[in-house]
Amino acid sequence: MNYRRRLRVLPAALLVFVALTGVSLPGWSDAPRRAGAAAAVLTPAAARAQAERVITTDLLRSYLTFIASDALQGRDTPSPGLDAAAQFLAFNLKRLGLKPMGDDGTYFQKIALRHVLPDGEKSRALLVGTPPLHFESDFLPELSGHRGGAGSVPESPLIYVSHGWVIPSRNIDAYKGVDVRDRVMVVAGRALPKGVQFYDLERGAARRGGWTGPAAYAAAHGARGIVYLPETEGGYADLVRSVRAEQGEIAPTDPAVASDETMREPASNAVPAIVLSWEVARRLFEGEPLSGDALLEDSETGEGSRAFMLRPEKRIAFTTAYRRDTVYTQNVVASLEGSGPVLREQYVAFGAHYDHVGVGLPDKNGDRIYNGADDDGSGTTALLTLAEAFSRADARPRRSLLFVWHCGEEKGLWGSSYFTAHPTVPLKQIVTQLNMDMIGRSKKQGDRERKNAELSGPDEIYVIGSRAMSTKLAAVSESVNRNYLDLKFNYKYDDPDDPNYFFYRSDHYNYARRGVPIIFYFDGEHADYHGRDDEVDRIDFDKMLKVTRTVFLTATELANLLDPPKVDKKMPFTG
Ligand SMILES: [Zn+2]
Repeated sequence: MNYRRRLRVLPAALLVFVALTGVSLPGWSDAPRRAGAAAAVLTPAAARAQAERVITTDLLRSYLTFIASDALQGRDTPSPGLDAAAQFLAFNLKRLGLKPMGDDGTYFQKIALRHVLPDGEKSRALLVGTPPLHFESDFLPELSGHRGGAGSVPESPLIYVSHGWVIPSRNIDAYKGVDVRDRVMVVAGRALPKGVQFYDLERGAARRGGWTGPAAYAAAHGARGIVYLPETEGGYADLVRSVRAEQGEIAPTDPAVASDETMREPASNAVPAIVLSWEVARRLFEGEPLSGDALLEDSETGEGSRAFMLRPEKRIAFTTAYRRDTVYTQNVVASLEGSGPVLREQYVAFGAHYDHVGVGLPDKNGDRIYNGADDDGSGTTALLTLAEAFSRADARPRRSLLFVWHCGEEKGLWGSSYFTAHPTVPLKQIVTQLNMDMIGRSKKQGDRERKNAELSGPDEIYVIGSRAMSTKLAAVSESVNRNYLDLKFNYKYDDPDDPNYFFYRSDHYNYARRGVPIIFYFDGEHADYHGRDDEVDRIDFDKMLKVTRTVFLTATELANLLDPPKVDKKMPFTG
C-alpha cells in the first residue's frame, strides 16, 4: 500500500496540465501513481520521506548478506559466483518493475572475454647442456596473453635486463650500453621500476615523457624472445595453480576496453615469452654477477638497472603455444523513467561494481574467500536499495534514472569501460554519474591501526569529483547534504593529481573522461581493503544508510534541475 494518500482537490484543467507536463505543484507531489498515468514529480520533501521509509538498515543488511556471502565465492570476473550475483540483481529489478536496459530486452549487457591457456602439448623449452625443461614444473609460456606471442625461438644467448623498462622522464633505462638484438632478454619479474606506480605511467608526469616496457622494447629492438623470472618465490606456484584450474589469462576482446595490462604493454607484435620457475632461474644464474637472493630481490622490487650478458655457454631455445576460447561476463543495467515529458530523455546514472577478487590462499583461520562486503558489496547493495526506493515512490524525478552494476572493476575497470564505449542510452543524455565504491566502513573511536588512519568516520565520507569537475554539481551536492544529514564531506582526494589517484581508480573515471560530471562516494582505504576480512560483520550499516539516503536525495535534486550541471573545470585527462 502507498503511504500518505492525500490527493488535494484541484481544478480538472490543472490536473490535466500537471499530468501532461509533470510540473510539480505544492501538495500534489505525493499523489499516488496509477498504472499507465504520468507520474507526478518527486519533491524534496517526498523524496526524504521515501528514503526514510524504504532505505533501512534491515534492507541494506539483507541484500548485503547475500551479495557478500561465501556462496558467491568472492564474485571474481568472470565466475559462476558473479553470475549468481547478476541473477540476484535481475530477479529483484524485475520484481521492482525496473526497465531492462541490457541486450535484447534483458538486464544483462554481455561482454566477451578472451580466455588464454598455455598449450602444454606444443610448448617446449631447452637450456643447452641440460635435460629438457618440463612444462609447469620448470617453465610456462608467458600468460599475460598479448604480452607473449606464440612461436619458436632458436638457440640464443641470454641477456639480463633487470625490470626491462625505459622511462626517460625518470631517467630510467634498463638497456644502457647493451644491445638485445638476436638475444633472449631475461626480465626480472613484472614489477615496475622502484618508485614508479602504474598510475604514474597512465596519468602522471611519466606519461608525458613516454615509456617502453620490456615486451615493446624486445619487439622494437630485435630481441628473439623474453624469459621472465617470477616476481616472488610463491609467484610461480600461483601461476601453475591458475593454469591447472584452467583460469589462465582472461581479458576483454573489445579493443575499446583498456585493461591495466594492455595499457602497460601495448605490443601487438610481441615476441615469444616464457616464465621460469625459481629453481631453474637460480640454476641459470649460478656464477653470474647477480644470483640467488639478490636476483629474487631485483624481481620483487624492480630495484636494479644493470644489464649484462650471461656466460656464453648458456643458451636457450623455446616454443610457446596457446589455446584460446571465448567466455562471457556481464554488466547489469536497468532504468526507471522520469516524470518530465521532455527531461525524461535525460538520465542521472548510478554506478557500483558488483565484482570482487574471488578466492585465494587460506588465511590463518582457513578463510579463502574475498567476500568484498565493503568493496563493493556496499555500493552494489546501496544501488539496489536506491532502485527499490525510487521504484516504489508515488512520484518520480523529472529525469530518468539509470542503474549500472559494473563487472570487472577489480580487473581494470572493464565493465565501465565497456559500458561507456557501448552505452545503452546515449552518453550525452547522462547528466551526472554517481558512483558508490566502498561506503560501508567507518573508523571506530580509539582505532590506532595504522592502516585505518585514512578511514573516514561514522558521519564522514570522501567525496571525489564534484568540486574538481563542476561548480554546479558541487553546489547541489553540498546544499542537499547541508539541508539533510549534514555528513562531513571530506574533499581530500578530490583532485585528479592527488598521488593516491583515486580519481582514476573506480568506474566513475570512465564516465568522467568522456565528459560526464561525476561524484565518487568512498569511505577510504582500510586494513581489510582487498583482504579476506572484508566481511558483513564489519560493516557500519548506520553509516551506509546515511550515505545511501544522501545519494537518494542528491540524485532527486539533480534529476529535477532544469539546467543540469556542466563540466566547467579543466580536467587533465580530457586535455
Ligand atoms: Zn571497489
